[in-house]
Amino acid sequence: MSEIKELKEKLMMKERKGTSTVSKEELDLANNFCIDYKKFLDKSRTEREAVKYAVALAKENGFTEFEQDKKYNPGDRVYIVNRNKAVGLAVIGKNGTKNGVKLSIAHIDSPRIDIKPNPLYEDNGLALLKTHYYGGIKKYQWTTIPLSLYGTVVKTDGSKVEIAVGDKDDDECFVITDLLPHLDREQATKTMNKAFTGEQLNVLVGSQAVDDSDEKDLVALNVMKILNERYGITEGDFLSAELSFVPSYKTRDVGFDRSLIGGYGHDDRCCAYPALMAAIDTKTPESTVITYLTDKEETGSDGNTGMQSDFLRYFIYDLAKADGEEGYRVLSKSKCLSADVNAAFDPTYSSAYEIKNASFINEGVVISKYTGHGGKYDTSDASAEYMGEIRSMLNKNNIKWQIGELGKVDIGGGGTIAKYVANMNVDVIDLGVAVLCMHAPFEIISKFDIYMAYKAFYALFND
Ligand code: MN
Ligand code: MN
Repeated sequence: MSEIKELKEKLMMKERKGTSTVSKEELDLANNFCIDYKKFLDKSRTEREAVKYAVALAKENGFTEFEQDKKYNPGDRVYIVNRNKAVGLAVIGKNGTKNGVKLSIAHIDSPRIDIKPNPLYEDNGLALLKTHYYGGIKKYQWTTIPLSLYGTVVKTDGSKVEIAVGDKDDDECFVITDLLPHLDREQATKTMNKAFTGEQLNVLVGSQAVDDSDEKDLVALNVMKILNERYGITEGDFLSAELSFVPSYKTRDVGFDRSLIGGYGHDDRCCAYPALMAAIDTKTPESTVITYLTDKEETGSDGNTGMQSDFLRYFIYDLAKADGEEGYRVLSKSKCLSADVNAAFDPTYSSAYEIKNASFINEGVVISKYTGHGGKYDTSDASAEYMGEIRSMLNKNNIKWQIGELGKVDIGGGGTIAKYVANMNVDVIDLGVAVLCMHAPFEIISKFDIYMAYKAFYALFND
C-alpha cells in the first residue's frame, strides 16, 4: 500500500459499500429475520393490531402481565398494555433497576385516514365517509388505491365491536376517488396542497339503494343496514368509534434481488419489530431492559397513549419501587435508543438531501444525533459523550451503521419521541432504519438494514 493510501485508510471515513462487504451468512440471517417481520407488518395495520400481535408473541415467549407491587426476580419477563394502544415488555436484570434501565422505544402508529365522528353521507347515488387524515401524508398518494378499514366501535351499552375488513383476498375494499386526466385541466394548474385538500379525502363505501321508495339517502341507508346486520351498530355509534382506513397492500419483496421490502407502515413498525424481538431474545440481562411501543408519534406524541404521557415513567417507577429504588434516580441512570426511521437517500430526488450526511439503503442502521428542523428546533441533540458510547457499542458488536440527517438544512424536517425521553433525564439517541417513500401507502426498506437495527437493540440490552 502506498504511504498516501495508508494515511487515507487510517484517517478518513470509509467509502460506502452497501452490502458488498457483508458475509453471505449475515445476509441469510437478515433474510430469515424478515420472513417473520413481513408477517408482523401484515397483521399490524394499526397500533391496536400491533399491540395484540406483540402481546400474543410475548405470552408465547414466557412474558406475563405486569402486577404492581409484585416482587420480580432476574430473568422474569413481564408486559404492560396502555389502553390497547401501547405496550411495554420488560426483562428483569440481575441488578434490577439499581443502575438504571435500558430502553428501546418505537412507535406503532402510522399515517392513515381516520373517519370523522359523523362520517356517512350520500351524494348523487354514492355513499361516502368523511375523513380526517392522521399524520403527515401527501394526499394524492392515498387516492385510487384499495383501502382496508380497521377499528373499534363502542356502543352505548358499553359493548365493543372490532372491525377489520379489506385485507382478506375475498374482502371488499374502499377507495378515495380522483379526477380523470381528461378533465383535470383546472386541477393541474394548482399546487399540490390546493389540488388535494383534506375535505376531498372522502371514501367511497357504497352505490346501491336499500329499496325503491320516496325516502331520501337510500344508498347511505343501505350501507348502514349492512353494517347493522354485520356489527349490530347504528349511525350514532360512529360517535364513539375509532375507525381508520389503511392501504390494503400486502407486504412484498421488492427488486429482482429481493433485497428490499415494500409495505404499509414501515414507519415505525420496522423499528418496533426488531425492538420487540430484542426484548424477547434477551434472557437475563445485567440491568432491566424495556422495549416500549408507543402510539400517537405521527400526531405529536400527545395524549395518554403517546410518549408525552406519564405511562412509561410510572411503569419504571413501579419497577424501581419493587427494587427499593427511587424512580427519578433510576431514570437519571437510564439509557435509551429512540427507535425511529430516517429518510433514505433517493437518487430521483437527490436535491432534497445533503449527500455527506444522508442515510443510504443497505448501509446499516442509521443514527441521528438530532432531528427537528431549521436551527435544530424541536429536538433532543444527543451529547457527544452518549454518541461516542453508542458508536463504540455498535463497532464492538460488528453492527453496520451510518449517520443520517433528515435532508438538507432548512428544507423541511421532522421529529421523533427522543426529546420526550430526554426530558425524563434519560440519555437518548435516535437509531433506526432508512426508508424510501416515507409516509407513502407503500414504503420501502432494506432487509439488511432492519436486521442491523435488531442487532443494535439486542446489543444495547445485552452489552
Ligand atoms: Mn416514525
Ligand atoms: Mn413518521
